[in-house]
Amino acid sequence: MAQEITLSQLRHWLLQYAERIIAEEAYLTRLDAAIGDADHGVNMRRGMEKVRDRLMDPDNQYPNISALFRSVAMTLISAVGGASGPLYGTFFLRAATSPGSGAQVDLAQFARMLRYGLDGLQQRGKAHVDDKTMVDTIQPAVEALEAALASGQSLAVALAAAKQAAHLGMEHTIDIRANKGRASYLGDHSIGHQDPGATSAYLLFETAVAALSTPGQTHVNGRFPAASSPRSVPAQVDKR
Ligand code: ADP
Ligand code: MG
Repeated sequence: MAQEITLSQLRHWLLQYAERIIAEEAYLTRLDAAIGDADHGVNMRRGMEKVRDRLMDPDNQYPNISALFRSVAMTLISAVGGASGPLYGTFFLRAATSPGSGAQVDLAQFARMLRYGLDGLQQRGKAHVDDKTMVDTIQPAVEALEAALASGQSLAVALAAAKQAAHLGMEHTIDIRANKGRASYLGDHSIGHQDPGATSAYLLFETAVAALSTPGQTHVNGRFPAASSPRSVPAQVDKR
């Protein structure tokens, strides 16, 4: 039987992501100071704080995953100034339209949701791999999920592979020149700096491992079980 990710786990994932973004605000802003306008941490923190507040509000009930993702999308689009708000917003909005985003998803449906999100993000931002954007993290992570699915891997293995691919993609942005967004104004001077959006996107996949790996088991004594991650997977955002 396919392992399922529940609506409650996805909500928990987004809350974990919000906490990581809030914790890394200064770091994300520092990355954007080098090749942009020093606001990515502020933008993302502001947006994800609003997302967290909405998700924690008991008056907001989400009947299905589609409604949950739509709410996240609308919050990010309205609360985040800068390019990243509409781009992340479009990612979640399009993920919400994928078939089968009911009360739970299996790995196939989850991978398809993220593929829909990535397609939407790329239609909106017109960025491809190697343009030095969040696409450099999200595309390899989605491809890793799809490859794990195709080879019959478990959900935990698939999520660990996605995180590892996301990390490699994020690190690769250091070596390449920006072709999209503000950093592209710097041309070759953007080389040598890690892309801020690729870094905030990595945190999505980092937090997914612990939040989503243990199928169906969303609460243990009010806490969520920590997933074990393979030694080969780097545990932290690279802070070079
Ligand atoms: P702004 O660039 O408007 O100040 P942010 O600083 O919040 O917005 O976000 C910058 C990040 O947005 C970049 O690091 C990059 O990853 C991402 N980004 C910019 N333009 C695009 C695009 N066209 N497609 C995908 N991602 C993009
Ligand atoms: Mg910026």
